Amino acid sequence: MSTKGANKDCICHIRCDVENCIHNNHKCGCTAQEIKVGPTFATTCSDTVCQTFEEQKKQ
Ligand code: SF4
Repeated sequence: MSTKGANKDCICHIRCDVENCIHNNHKCGCTAQEIKVGPTFATTCSDTVCQTFEEQKKQ
């Protein structure tokens, strides 16, 4: 698995365990400039998704 985001600064106060995202630093941090979360019709936590997610390609 790539460690692409490992040495980048994180968005404060975002805790993300999605380690197969290229923006994840593998320490529960997100290194994206910003994140977008949706959809607008969500009514429960499980309805929501991070739309900034980008899958890490296996090396
Ligand atoms: S972009 Fe979304 S899924 Fe990816 S590390 Fe950040 S919060 Fe997690």
